[in-house]
Amino acid sequence: MTTRDDVDSSQDEGWHEFDLCTPTAEHALLAKSLAEFVEREVEPQAAEHDRAERFNLPLFRLAGELGFLGITLPERFGGSGLDAVAAVQLMQALSTSDPGFALSVLAHSFLFAHNLSINGSEEQCARLLPGAASGEAIGGLCMTEPAVGTDVLAMKTRAERDGENWRLTGVKTFITNGGVDEGTLGDVFIVYATTGDRSLSAFLVEKGMPGFRLGQKWSDKLGMRASFTAELVFEDVPVPAANLIGEAGQGTLHMMRNLEIERLTLAAQGLGIAQRALRVMVGYANERKSFGQPIREFGQIQRHIAESYAEYRAACAFVYDTARRLSFTRTGQRVNADATKLLAAQVAKRAADAAIQVLGGNGYMGEYVVERLWRDAKLLEIGGGTLEAHHKNITKDLARDLSILS
Ligand SMILES: Cc1cc2nc3c(=O)[nH]c(=O)nc-3n(C[C@H](O)[C@H](O)[C@H](O)COP(=O)(O)OP(=O)(O)OC[C@H]3O[C@@H](n4cnc5c(N)ncnc54)[C@H](O)[C@@H]3O)c2cc1C
Repeated sequence: MTTRDDVDSSQDEGWHEFDLCTPTAEHALLAKSLAEFVEREVEPQAAEHDRAERFNLPLFRLAGELGFLGITLPERFGGSGLDAVAAVQLMQALSTSDPGFALSVLAHSFLFAHNLSINGSEEQCARLLPGAASGEAIGGLCMTEPAVGTDVLAMKTRAERDGENWRLTGVKTFITNGGVDEGTLGDVFIVYATTGDRSLSAFLVEKGMPGFRLGQKWSDKLGMRASFTAELVFEDVPVPAANLIGEAGQGTLHMMRNLEIERLTLAAQGLGIAQRALRVMVGYANERKSFGQPIREFGQIQRHIAESYAEYRAACAFVYDTARRLSFTRTGQRVNADATKLLAAQVAKRAADAAIQVLGGNGYMGEYVVERLWRDAKLLEIGGGTLEAHHKNITKDLARDLSILS
């Protein structure tokens, strides 16, 4: 039996100081740069772009210049080569201020660029990733169709081999970064389509390819209004064989490989929303008086604050711990990616809701931000997998392997 004397504890020193959210000096530096960027550049434009339902292209390009768009991309392609913790930091920080802008960054940096860096060839990465990292080219991912969302394997978009090309036909909808404005298509997309019998393949479709066009812009969205959501139309688009990602039939594998970072970064958006909601409600409860005392003295207000805080902290621990363990190349990490998003999405919505309640009538008004957070938070329960899809996946993964619990 191992006794305490057998244990070499020399490596354990300092573990009490370990910070889950900024585990290294590099993460701490990133947190500082992000906080400055958010305060100076993101916050002043957030309300206006939400109101106008407009994507902020200059801000996006600035984020690229500062290295925030290629945070997890290899350095040889213009990225910073950082890990999933850094990705979570980025999405949390942006979402404390402008979750809609953050969603555009997420679709570009993680659904498109990170996905390509893991699944694409050296040639494809060398050609497309430097432009993605700088923000010169805007990317996105096309999975959802008008008649098919959760049930991805039933998608109708089809690609047939035709000599040196594939011919791609179909319609994708709700595509973040599908356009930059009403008249301008985004630059480059990973598009999933069926090939062969029922297998999925992933293609790079670029602006300028004949038959590829912007369909309708989805305007009047509930939230995430600073991100541009569009329908994209593919009419017999000749996609060069060199734009097939990996092999034909590997689309589902690619999807699974990218799913974890996608869900984890969406969960991080939930953290940012909850954090901002807490800041607003605590500040307000300190200032606002009713019946001669600050409303923070009332038990019911304390309950809103305390429950939101406890849930926020629990979600932070779960999201950052999952990020710390995440490998970009391994599959089979789905259960916690789904579970973090399942939790953080709801924590965000409840915290924003509590904040509105604490602020009373002011909470209902745009000036106080929390109504925007509440509208934005709802997307996290739908996009990148609905709550019900997470229920299904988590139950399936646990039923298959109960050792996950230990
Ligand atoms: C603002 C926004 C941005 C988006 N960005 C992108 C993007 O960039 N790229 C992209 O490809 N997609 C994007 N989406 C699409 C998003 O991922 C889908 O909306 C989502 O996956 C759900 O698909 P659906 O809307 O077709 O709903 P459906 O799949 O039709 O689901 C409808 C309802 O049925 C439930 N349901 C379906 N199947 C089951 C089941 N087996 N068990 C229990 N319940 C079930 C769902 O949970 C949901 O409640 C975006 C959506 C929005 C709103």
